[in-house]
Amino acid sequence: MDIRTKQKENCPLCETEGDYLHRDLKERLFFNCHGYSWNIRVCKNMTCRHMWIDPSPIKEDLHKLYTEYYTHDLKISIGPLKKFYQEIIEQYFCVMFNYPSRKRGTTKWIWPLLYFFPWRLPLLNRKIMYLPYVKDGRLLEIGFGNGERLGLLSSLGWQAIGVDFDQTSVNNGLREGLRVSLGDVTEQKYPDDYFDAIISSHVIEHIPDPKAWLDECMRILKPGGRLICTTPNNRSLGHSLFERNWRDLDPPRHLHIFSPASLCSLITSEKTRCTTSKVGASTLFDSYWLYKGYDPIVKKNQLNKFAYLLIFEALHIFEWISSAVFRVTGEELVFLVVKQR
Ligand SMILES: [Zn+2]
Repeated sequence: MDIRTKQKENCPLCETEGDYLHRDLKERLFFNCHGYSWNIRVCKNMTCRHMWIDPSPIKEDLHKLYTEYYTHDLKISIGPLKKFYQEIIEQYFCVMFNYPSRKRGTTKWIWPLLYFFPWRLPLLNRKIMYLPYVKDGRLLEIGFGNGERLGLLSSLGWQAIGVDFDQTSVNNGLREGLRVSLGDVTEQKYPDDYFDAIISSHVIEHIPDPKAWLDECMRILKPGGRLICTTPNNRSLGHSLFERNWRDLDPPRHLHIFSPASLCSLITSEKTRCTTSKVGASTLFDSYWLYKGYDPIVKKNQLNKFAYLLIFEALHIFEWISSAVFRVTGEELVFLVVKQR
């Protein structure tokens, strides 16, 4: 595969020169660009500390990096036990995020049992991107991947639309009956002040010009509307522990790896809030196997289901405790902007 690149010596956000942090990294997750080496630079500006890839693939060749990708996974049909669990979770959303209650009977009384597993609550909140209900609200998900979240939010009452640059994701979404379209959000020509909420999970780090991308999001967001993005945290515990083997470096797909400060610097005209979440178990799992020199996807498939559940539960508890002690070390940044009225 031929990927054209360009050098990026200065910080794409504040133009300060960058130091090399990790040199000669290889693509190790999907093995779709052999023969290339990538470096990660960190901004010398101590109030920024943004990280970026150097050299960077040029925009026209980015699609070549996604020929194999995890968002191509199709949803599988669920059994009665999982369906019951989903009804309990929906009841939790109704109470915690003001969604209209549709379920009656046992789930109405059972949902508080979720509080016996407090390390799991952040995972539930993330399923709906921390989004409170807006009656007749219009929602856009940028980069909807396998469509699971878009389907859930539609079923909870949002008029949900998805956009993704990946043809396979769009085909799968259309087959599932979702309202989805192909391309970049900037190509869709949505009207001004159109959406009550825009959500985007782990997309902004793949965007060549995140500032222009966020400006477009703010244009199409209604005054009072919420923009919620998640992205890897370059100050995370996983990055400190596993360094060049940290899974979320993901060269060359991750063009940017934000610090809390560099993410907030993208929007200065509105009130922003940046926190970290406690949902990084799979990042820690993958990083451990990369550190050991194995392919994490192969290792995941080799584990039996019980061991898999046990390891992930332990990792969730570990991250839940550690991020309670060290506040900014969660694997994922959660970026919230409320557009001024
Ligand atoms: Zn910078």
